[in-house]
Amino acid sequence: MTSSEELHKRRGAAVARGVGSTISSYVDHAGGGTITDVEGRQWIDFAAGIAVANVGNSAPRVVEAVKAQVERFTHTCFMVAPYESYVAVCEQLNAITPGDFEKRSALFNSGAEAVENAVKIARHATGRPAVVVFDHAYHGRTNLTMALTAKNMPYKHRFGPFAGEIYRVPMSYPLRDGGLSGAEAAARAIELVEKQVGAENVAALLIEPIQGEGGFVVPAAGFLPALREWATAAGVVFVADEIQTGFCRTGQWFACEHEEVVPDLITLAKAIAGGLPLAAVTGRAELMDAVHVGGLGGTYGGNPIACAAALASIETMRELDLTCAAQRIETVLAARLRTIAERDPRIAEVRGRGAMLAVELVQPGTLVPDPAATAAISAACHAAGLLTLTCGTYGNVLRFLPPLVISNDELARGLDILDAAFG
Ligand SMILES: *Cc1c(COP(=O)(O)O)cnc(C)c1O
Repeated sequence: MTSSEELHKRRGAAVARGVGSTISSYVDHAGGGTITDVEGRQWIDFAAGIAVANVGNSAPRVVEAVKAQVERFTHTCFMVAPYESYVAVCEQLNAITPGDFEKRSALFNSGAEAVENAVKIARHATGRPAVVVFDHAYHGRTNLTMALTAKNMPYKHRFGPFAGEIYRVPMSYPLRDGGLSGAEAAARAIELVEKQVGAENVAALLIEPIQGEGGFVVPAAGFLPALREWATAAGVVFVADEIQTGFCRTGQWFACEHEEVVPDLITLAKAIAGGLPLAAVTGRAELMDAVHVGGLGGTYGGNPIACAAALASIETMRELDLTCAAQRIETVLAARLRTIAERDPRIAEVRGRGAMLAVELVQPGTLVPDPAATAAISAACHAAGLLTLTCGTYGNVLRFLPPLVISNDELARGLDILDAAFG
């Protein structure tokens, strides 16, 4: 078999440099809580392909459903000749997302595309232009979603000009906002919107209930409910971007449920289809159905193979009770991270929910971010066979996103490597 080194050489001559990779080993196969590279080396997987492989790689039901579908038909385009599985995925999403009102869904290919469509729907339904987003937000890499995203490097740098009518306000970030309560942080954001934008000009307020790429920032209790309440009063569409937090990741089906916040629209992707590309916007029927026939869609959106995989994936989440699995992972992972934090003053905070946990690293005794230590610990993990990811506006957050089907033994082995990497 071709070695990782040879593949890396070929890659350099064939693949655009702008597409990076966390590790330079090449995958042969993956499943459960591990990835095996072409050298036969096994990695403990604390990345899950960025919160995608919640049901694990090549989950049995997903494999079976994809095989069956690929033999029946691969693509007719739902906008040309529709099929049942698209409808069935929408029925499932309408049923499992928060809110007991009438809902509709539309399917797309990527998270960014789902976010773009949520903005289109909110603008169309309200007749208003403005979209409110938050510091540290990440919503994708297309032109509109770059504008919605906060961080310049690497996402936006020299890719402008960006889409207009996007307004950014401060997030609730308990470690870094002087300990504002959720209500205080929400009041600060709302005041800015009212003074600088005008509530009556706002189509949508778009927020990740727990920020992903921005650093696994969990807002203070009450922040999301206060924003939800304001949006309702102001006629603003509350859009929850649950692309990273969704599908059992945080110990609930969706992270909004931790504070019983019910979004008007919810954007979904990543773990939705067991590793196949699929995304969705789900929400209130009167908003979703406001758009004229033909106004939403896309050639591949709701591809039949991806839909078959989504149905099998959702069934697997139910069957294996993956919300419960995420809670079990949280118990083990959080305890171990707190033990490491007790002895290592570089850890300013252990945070997150369920199997979406992180540590933020600083220079001891300060809040000055330490991206160098973060990169060094991450590199030590990679060298020892643990795949971890970093994130955060300051690049100083180590995040942990194991597949929810990781075994206790694999989890323990991963944590031993992590523990050693902190020294
Ligand atoms: C990954 C992500 C996106 C973008 O999804 P893509 O499928 O990469 O386009 C949007 N929002 C959040 C919160 C994400 O984590």
